[in-house]
Amino acid sequence: MGFFDKLFKKKDAEPKAEAAKKSEPAATKASVKVEEKKAAPAPAPAGAGPAPDAFVVPPVANPNDSKIPEDVKLKASDMGPLLPGAPPGGKIKLAVYWTAACGGCDVSLLDIHERILTVGDMAEIVMWPVAADGKEKDIAAMEDGEITVTLINGAIRNSENEHMAKLLRQKSTILVAYGTCAMYGGSPALANLVPGGAKDILDYVYTKTPSSANFQNEYHKDAPVIPQTSYQAPEGELTLPVLYDTVKTLDQVVDVDYSIPGCPPLPESILQLLKAVEDFVYNGVPLPPKGTIVGVTTKTLCEECPRRKESRRITEIKEPYQVDIDPELCLMDQGILCLGPATMGGCGARCTRAGQPCRGCYGASPDVQEQGASMFTAVASLFPVLDEDPTCGEDEIIKIMSTIKDPLGYFYAYTLGKSLIKRAVKEGGQ
Ligand code: SF4
Ligand code: SF4
Ligand code: SF4
Repeated sequence: MGFFDKLFKKKDAEPKAEAAKKSEPAATKASVKVEEKKAAPAPAPAGAGPAPDAFVVPPVANPNDSKIPEDVKLKASDMGPLLPGAPPGGKIKLAVYWTAACGGCDVSLLDIHERILTVGDMAEIVMWPVAADGKEKDIAAMEDGEITVTLINGAIRNSENEHMAKLLRQKSTILVAYGTCAMYGGSPALANLVPGGAKDILDYVYTKTPSSANFQNEYHKDAPVIPQTSYQAPEGELTLPVLYDTVKTLDQVVDVDYSIPGCPPLPESILQLLKAVEDFVYNGVPLPPKGTIVGVTTKTLCEECPRRKESRRITEIKEPYQVDIDPELCLMDQGILCLGPATMGGCGARCTRAGQPCRGCYGASPDVQEQGASMFTAVASLFPVLDEDPTCGEDEIIKIMSTIKDPLGYFYAYTLGKSLIKRAVKEGGQ
């Protein structure tokens, strides 16, 4: 039984038989916690109805790009009116938390411009470490499900990240994996490529990098100092979170209701989520079914990329700076690796429109389970076959492929935490 089911079962006072007589699903009779103890519209039952692939949004684009048709630009009016004050049921409670994150996701929430000023009309912000106060003990003292919506950005990298994710899950009715790191592990999960895990990472960072090696040589020559999880100071025990060997995604440690990809998510996606929450708290419109991915299409990025595809054969892989880039032609046709063929659409091909290859921050397209492996296949199909070029045999293709610097880091830049590979291990499974 999922968290939603438990929550709504507990709150639903009607016996099942009674509820079944009504046309609405029983779960919609539940109420969520609000600042004032009035009834507020209830969330849609998690998992009710067919699970959608996504909120499908129209293609979006850089508004400064004059080549983009007017009807695909996000306009100020698309953001809707400012919020009209406290909702009828009283303010909802909102939390925003970062785990292993860079801060970009937190900052991206400000991309909704002046609308952010009126989010306070709708919601009491109970925690947002980057922008507001709010202590762990205050969250711990709340009732289960009391926070209406929590957005967590970042991967799960240490014991504190996991503890806070679990605490916020318990105290929240709706939990959103916000951004690529929370959904797929993002760049923090590239640490999983260190075979020795946390021990080797700490050793490298605190003793091998030039600055730390100099420091240790200078002050701790005989016994390098590396952070410990517990230290007995005269005043008492000091503790640090335990660094994990394997970085995890948010849904690998807690149940997640909605997800928003992007590094960081685009304003259009944030608005989609805000609009859904707004419709729910002001107008009682049920929330989207559990599992919805907000702000994506059901196709690959290539399908919203305006570049001309000629499916040219290539015999060399190049970095963007090595090419006088044709602004109209597909980047792969120009020998530049682009993850568009294996990436979920929704961002409007922002990077390729700006002349940079897609690095895959939206994660795998719906029909692809393994983004990196899919890209290896897509790249391999670019090379000439022997029939077309007798010089391009297996050896030649291996030679070309081996010019890709850091292939795992390139093809799994954002999704290693969610991949089948998961992590590197030392020989012998150590
Ligand atoms: S998804 Fe990108 S912007 Fe968000 S925390 Fe991760 S690295 Fe930063
Ligand atoms: S491979 Fe990249 S540049 Fe080419 S069409 Fe796809 S997204 Fe556009
Ligand atoms: S083009 Fe690719 S890397 Fe750039 S924002 Fe879109 S999905 Fe992310």
